[in-house]
Amino acid sequence: IKYKGDFINGRFVPVSKGDGEFKDISPADLSDLVMTVPFKNDHIDEACVAAKKAYMGWAMLSVDERRGYLMRLKELFDSHAEQMAQVISRDTGKPTWEALTEAKALGAKIDITLNQSLNLVAEERIPNALPQVEGVIRYRSRGVMAVVGPFNFPAHLPNGHIIPALIAGNTVVFKPSEQTPAVGQFMAEIYEKAQFPPGVFNLVQGAGAAGGRLVANEHVDGILFTGSYEVGLKIKQETLNHYWKILALEMGGKNATVVWDDADMDKAIYESLVGSYMTAGQRCSCTSRIILHPKIADEFTERFYQAAKKLSIGHWTENTFMGPLINEAAVEKYIRFQEIANRENCESLMRGKALDLKHKGYYVTPSIHLVNKFDPNSVYQKSEIFGPNVAIYQSDNFDEAMNIVNSSGYGLVMALFSKNKELYEQALLKARVGLLNWNRTTNGSSSRLPFGGMGKSGNDRPSAHFAIQYCTVPVASLEDATPFDPTKILPGMN
Ligand code: NAD
Repeated sequence: IKYKGDFINGRFVPVSKGDGEFKDISPADLSDLVMTVPFKNDHIDEACVAAKKAYMGWAMLSVDERRGYLMRLKELFDSHAEQMAQVISRDTGKPTWEALTEAKALGAKIDITLNQSLNLVAEERIPNALPQVEGVIRYRSRGVMAVVGPFNFPAHLPNGHIIPALIAGNTVVFKPSEQTPAVGQFMAEIYEKAQFPPGVFNLVQGAGAAGGRLVANEHVDGILFTGSYEVGLKIKQETLNHYWKILALEMGGKNATVVWDDADMDKAIYESLVGSYMTAGQRCSCTSRIILHPKIADEFTERFYQAAKKLSIGHWTENTFMGPLINEAAVEKYIRFQEIANRENCESLMRGKALDLKHKGYYVTPSIHLVNKFDPNSVYQKSEIFGPNVAIYQSDNFDEAMNIVNSSGYGLVMALFSKNKELYEQALLKARVGLLNWNRTTNGSSSRLPFGGMGKSGNDRPSAHFAIQYCTVPVASLEDATPFDPTKILPGMN
């Protein structure tokens, strides 16, 4: 893929003499150099200035005028979905069928935002907000939004912040993950084709230092971040005294599934496999812990294990279920956690290994560990591994199962498999999570619903359907058309 540059003020600005460069190598094939990306830190500041300059003009347009731009963008996303899927697959290694789902979500997000989420910030008139005075609630934009993206959904997740930000009247500076710069560039190419006013959408390439510089920029009014808890925390710390910035932090997960003794076993097993191993476990919403009722534990574990052994792993062009991990560090972390699990007295039912395939890449096999003793302080039991690993627990006590669910510090998704609605209702009260699915696995969320978690998973600014809320500020007005009434002056004023 030909490197085009950062996208600033409506055009690509290549970096010729920059501060360094990084190589974007496909994790699915280490001989596939996708792009060499030079970066220049000054570009970050230039992009923020461009976004700041463009802001008022964009904010002054009517929602319908901005809708026109977004509809054009939607058509372009839809007509480029196949190409986008190819770029996503090369950059992340995920199979094409999966990348295509991501690519198709881009246009769908625009539809959902325009047809559903915009209603959350529709003007509302409140008669008699004060006696005989009408109140109005309106939502204004915030300014320049910095969007910092993760590698695992390099297009869909940043898009989930960018679209609501734009329709609400904000301008955007987007920094994609350094693992997936080609996806970022392809998105910018589509914005270029859609001919937004210059400066409304900007893209800068770079790694962590670039992200740090972007979030610290004085022109930035909001930081819409998707990534790990560790980086989210850093962003929070580094912007503590930037009082004017809103932070929407979508962070990690250590999601749990509870399978009770009355569950539909075929469904629970199938859904849990999808939850645990899809995207090679590289989803914030992946299942990493399964708590089984002892009555069904043997059957579940055996069938889950047999099915996990058969999952096909391979290059994105092949018809496989699972691609590689994103990079060498991810493989090392995955292997290290196999050892940590053993050291902490968890038994390897299926041990994860690096895998040598025809295409040299960061492929690993799925793994399963049996937890004999729940320990909230265990590093293995509480850490997000971000690989195809699942820990299996047993408990016949629902309160104890809920205690395990809530023990990791993260609080993104829980799934319950049971026919008993009362158990589900108990879980709704007890689980400290932002998403709780009933007879449906932890991953595969809907853009029509909010998406965000508690604890280390987020800062209570859920994205997806609710993203439009953090992209706006509610403005309250009292509108009084009545003439001055001298009989109503306050005591002591005449
Ligand atoms: P990451 O935290 O390593 O990186 C995310 C982004 O932050 C990258 O663009 C990176 O360059 C940037 N960054 C790094 N240091 C920075 C700094 N100091 N200041 C500003 N930006 C900085 O995450 P990742 O490995 O790309 O993605 C995986 C993580 O994302 C997992 O923890 C996963 O659970 C999480 N995730 C969360 C959600 C969600 O919606 N909650 C969705 C997808 C992924």
